[in-house]
Amino acid sequence: MILAHDILHELIHAKSRHYARKNKSLQFDYKAGFRLTDLERYDSEYFKNFEEGITEELVKKYFYEMVIKEEIFEKELASTRSFKDRQGAPCQEDLYLALGEDYFLNDDERRSFARFCYQKQRENLHILITKIYLKNQNRFGKREEVFDIFAGCKLRSDLIKPGLLIDRTFGKGTFRTLGEVDSDLTLQRKFIYSL
Ligand SMILES: [Zn+2]
Repeated sequence: MILAHDILHELIHAKSRHYARKNKSLQFDYKAGFRLTDLERYDSEYFKNFEEGITEELVKKYFYEMVIKEEIFEKELASTRSFKDRQGAPCQEDLYLALGEDYFLNDDERRSFARFCYQKQRENLHILITKIYLKNQNRFGKREEVFDIFAGCKLRSDLIKPGLLIDRTFGKGTFRTLGEVDSDLTLQRKFIYSL
């Protein structure tokens, strides 16, 4: 399942639309999903963490909808379920794999674990989405509808729609600032809380 997870994650990045554009100095601005790179200023990369958060949330969604239904993972799933039961779950919600004794073992409890990654990125995304939903309840029936907009736009590499939604909800310039603080997740968290 670890391999399935990793392949799915990279496939979702790869399946997102990519753009390259020649600029004045014959270099390329690059856009992939939500991530924007300005090669004229190498340190300028926007929404990289946002891109990872949305990608991993999609992995999680597809994982539960498709991957775990595959017969080949039956044994790994049974092992994971029994671990979650014994641990008494909520904090283990993000755990998708606990390998049993008959697998390759590498820790003291003779078990190996795997969790969905980019947890901080996904937390920031969730807080932002909840805030957008709460301020637009006349428009959205449930929170997931806001996530679906972000996910759809990520796959099309369309930053205009989410940008407008965010700026109309919190004020002009919010989306830009969100991109500028994206490389510092703690700062981004503070900014999202302040909205
Ligand atoms: Zn990634």
